[in-house]
Amino acid sequence: MHEYSVVQALLKQIEDVAKENDASKVTKIVVKIGVMSGVEAHLLEIAFNTFKEKTICDGAEFVMNIQPLTIECQECKSVSKLEKIHYCCQKCESINVRVVDGEDMFLMSLEME
Ligand SMILES: [Zn+2]
Repeated sequence: MHEYSVVQALLKQIEDVAKENDASKVTKIVVKIGVMSGVEAHLLEIAFNTFKEKTICDGAEFVMNIQPLTIECQECKSVSKLEKIHYCCQKCESINVRVVDGEDMFLMSLEME
């Protein structure tokens, strides 16, 4: 499962941040998951709960924010959040658009003790 390697990388990243801050425990983790990142939120949660044991994240609250696909139109400059995966400006219907958000997954914030 793809999410397993995503979580292992995430836990490694969190451990590094915790070490830098001399934290002994992580209490809350907030991640952002783009709808087009290829990461399934419920699978990510399962993977997190599987791997967090015996790590600094054991017992941490895991919050996932789903980021819709966001595009910027190159014609009229309007920014649209897409309900459906349809790369087209919602104002002028141009397909000359640039993706500005929703294609990645990353760590947004950490609370540590
Ligand atoms: Zn437009």
